[in-house]
Amino acid sequence: HLDRIAAVDRDYNAFLHVSGEAALAAAARVDAALAAGDGPASPLAGVPLALKDVFTTTDAPTTCGSKILEGWMAPYDATLTTKLREAGIPVLGKTNMDEFAMGSSTENSAYGPTRNPWDTSRIPGGSGGGSAAALASYQAPLAIGTDTGGSIRQPAAVTATVGTKPTYGTVSRFGLVACASSLDQGGPCGRTVLDTALLHEVIAGYDPRDSTSIDTPVRPVVEAARQGATGDLKGVRVGVVKELHSDSYQPGVIASFDAAVAQLTALGAEVVEVSCPSFEYALAAYYLVLPSEVSSNLARFDAMRYGMRVDNGDMSADQVMAATRAAGFGKEVKRRIMIGTYALSSGYYDAYYGSALKVRTLIARDFDAAYRKADVLVSPTSPFTPWKLGEKVDDPLAMYLSDLCTLPTNLAGHCAISVPSGLSADDGLPVGLQVMAPALADERLYRVAAAYE
Ligand code: GLN
Repeated sequence: HLDRIAAVDRDYNAFLHVSGEAALAAAARVDAALAAGDGPASPLAGVPLALKDVFTTTDAPTTCGSKILEGWMAPYDATLTTKLREAGIPVLGKTNMDEFAMGSSTENSAYGPTRNPWDTSRIPGGSGGGSAAALASYQAPLAIGTDTGGSIRQPAAVTATVGTKPTYGTVSRFGLVACASSLDQGGPCGRTVLDTALLHEVIAGYDPRDSTSIDTPVRPVVEAARQGATGDLKGVRVGVVKELHSDSYQPGVIASFDAAVAQLTALGAEVVEVSCPSFEYALAAYYLVLPSEVSSNLARFDAMRYGMRVDNGDMSADQVMAATRAAGFGKEVKRRIMIGTYALSSGYYDAYYGSALKVRTLIARDFDAAYRKADVLVSPTSPFTPWKLGEKVDDPLAMYLSDLCTLPTNLAGHCAISVPSGLSADDGLPVGLQVMAPALADERLYRVAAAYE
């Protein structure tokens, strides 16, 4: 894989940092331990992985795709990083991403965009476009992403790979540099559902160092993927969400989705239509909740504690802070800090942030009602196939629309997977099928996705 990265990554820019020596050393340690009969128990021991550059690592820089953290070395490993090391999974390197995970195309990275291996003039999705492109271009067999509003699932969809956003609280956020803490969740990415399930079981688990971690056993997702692979979905109720099936989506995406539903029916699933009327407000609520949390979380980049510092020698502390943040953050990050600061300011808090939280509750109730009729819900992962680089960079609202189908799951704290659903009939580009399930029912995702795959 290191040879492959050296040969092809200049075409894709999936990696921000390649840890060749560390990866080879980790692999050698696993080989030696296995030969001595006391290697890691994980079936993934020795299988290398690409890590999104938002998890801290003591042996490689962590930049979050931002200039403000250029060259910063974290003093500790994220819990997820530790779990990978303990499982004997060598980390090949850190992958490109939209700055602080804000974006849907990886064009907001300070280190240049990643390109989609299916067509290098197109975006690989975002914010985890680097991880998805690494998988799709066979530079890594496994990858890690984070999903705050779709950043694992949408890149998976547009690169024909698999990605899961696990139930909130089941994968530790300790050492995951925060975007929006109530929405962020790390998750597994792979080229098959079973690979993704194997990685899911490695990274999930209770962590006392994450205050929102849930103390509950890891869901049996590998067993579910194996069961699903038999192709039998008898007894499984699949809900098609009416509000996530729209004439405004790309026709080829809708055609692929309708064919997927027909296939699930043929596999024995019982398909029902469900309605989630509050989903219509998910985008508006998300783009208040997320910036509000961003404005608070990113206050830590104050030029004193981390990374870059702009200081001409006779500046006050306030001036150093302002100059550093002005030079260090990109446009989209600044936009969201300003929206969030505004939404949280006195006099506006109830009208904006307060309303967004109420919508969040309504969305959770819609899901609860839908899950009384169905075991899983399905929709397209993204309304569009990958668009051309540059096409939406000057139109943030158009960019935000690509998150329509993925956001409700994050707002409710539930889980969802994106699995390849063929190529769109209108442009021959990848389409993803999204399968959603209630909190702590992640195994249902894998059963259905593996049957469909
Ligand atoms: N595209 C969404 C956004 O820009 C989702 C990001 C994410 O999941 N990190 O906020």
